[in-house]
Formats: sequence, structure tokens, C-alpha cells
Amino acid sequence: MAIRPKLGQHFLSDEAALERIAKAASRPGDTVVEIGPGHGALTRHLVSTARRVVAVELDAKLAEALSDQCGRPGNLEVICKDFLHCHLPDLVSQATSDQNVVTGNLPYYITSPILRSVFSAHHLFRSATFLVQEEVANRTVAGPGSRAYGFLSCLCHLYSEPRKLFTVPPGAFSPRPNIRSAAVQFVLRKQAPPRGLLAFLSACFRAPRKTLRNNLVRRYPRDSVAADPCAGLRAQQLGIEELAAMWRRIQPSPSTD
Ligand code: SAM
Repeated sequence: MAIRPKLGQHFLSDEAALERIAKAASRPGDTVVEIGPGHGALTRHLVSTARRVVAVELDAKLAEALSDQCGRPGNLEVICKDFLHCHLPDLVSQATSDQNVVTGNLPYYITSPILRSVFSAHHLFRSATFLVQEEVANRTVAGPGSRAYGFLSCLCHLYSEPRKLFTVPPGAFSPRPNIRSAAVQFVLRKQAPPRGLLAFLSACFRAPRKTLRNNLVRRYPRDSVAADPCAGLRAQQLGIEELAAMWRRIQPSPSTD
């Protein structure tokens, strides 16, 4: 079957790495959504323990062959679709959210949109376990003081407890990518972050080398921003709690009319 590099088709062939991802991703009795099953290298591990596996593959030829390649297991459902166009509540039952998980060796060209899509459905899943570029994995888990810390780190920490699990070298894939990969797990929080906080954090990190004052002054009340004790710092110097406290301080006061 022809490989389609534009779809991020780097197939993982290291059995030990596949087994580690499957073990970290799901427990017996889970419903597992797998993003980009490809030839089923990870799917075969998942169907052996999960109650149900819903595999979403965009490449029609791969999707068509998947069930046969996995030995036609009764607990495998294949959906041929762009994961980003899936309505996630249609894939899993909300009633079993503690037993729903999502996983995949991700197509790296859409890692961020996939993370946003999963976070927007955080209440449906217990956890998300992904193989991503190592540089992205580092950004998801980073905290203040690290060069990798930025808006993506805040997004991941607000919706989950992120944890880097292990790295995977380029030689574990076919064809070989020219970057290292890492498995990362997000244990999803039940509660969504407060409305408005994400937009504020995005503005804080818009130009990471600029001060918070310069990044925020056009979007938030000028006087409150200028007077804030953190206005002269850069977002990278502050943790999420400190940034959230600044956001609360500069909110316009409720009208008393
Ligand atoms: N899971 C397999 C493995 O580990 O060998 C394949 C992983 S490969 C990195 C990424 C897979 O995602 C490919 O099979 C690709 O066709 C599929 N894919 C790419 N874009 C997709 C999308 N938008 N929705 C669903 N699957 C996609």
C-alpha cells in the first residue's frame, strides 16, 4: 500500500514501544478511541484487552483493510473519517466516561488541533495517551522557567495532569521520521477552566519576549493592566496560578447601574 507522507504516515514497528503505549493507554473494560490506526500495529494490542475499540482512520484504503489485519475482532469498530470532523459524543457514551480513553500514534501535522478537540471533550474521557514529537511532548508538560513553557503548556495543565512517559527513537518507525518522539499522557480533569481564562493566557503568550503589559494592553482595560504588579514581567516567568490571579485582578468591575 502506498505511503502518504502528507497524512503523517510513519508507522511504529517497535513491539516493545507499542505494548508500553497500549498498557499505559487503557485498562480491561475500557472503551478506547484510537486516532489513526494505520495498519493496526497499536490496534492489535488494544483489542486484546479493551471492551471496545473505535478506530478513526482518514485513509480509506487503510481503514478498509484494518479489521482483517487485526484478525476481525468482534470488539473493533472502524470509522473512516477525519478525526477532527468527528463529533466525539457520538463515539463514546458519556455515562461511562471513567472507562473511556483516547490514544494514538498521532499524525504529527495535526497534534495541536487533536489536543484541542480532545480537551473540548474532556468530560467524556478519563485519559488521553499519545505518541507525539518529543519537542511537543516537552512543551505539554513544561512549567515556568523552562524554554518549552508557553500557551500549549497552560492549555494542557488546565484540562489535565500531563505526564511524559518515555521517548521513542526515529529507528522505531517505518518510514523513519527525522525527529524523536515521546509518549505523553493527559489525565483529564472533570472541570473546564473558567471562561475567558484561555483567551487571556493566549494573549499573554502572543509575543513571548514582550512584557505582559505590551501583550495585554490593547485587549484588556489599559489602566488595570498598567497598574498590575506583574505588568513588567514576561508570561514565561509566571506559573498558571499567578497568571490566573492577574486575569482576575484586571477584570473590569461589574457595573453597579
Ligand atoms: N497507529 C499506526 C502506527 O502506530 O503505526 C499509524 C500511525 S501514523 C503516525 C498516523 C495515522 O493517522 C496514519 O494511519 C494516517 O493515515 C492517519 N491520519 C492522518 N490524518 C488523520 C486524520 N485527520 N484523522 C484520522 N486519521 C488520520
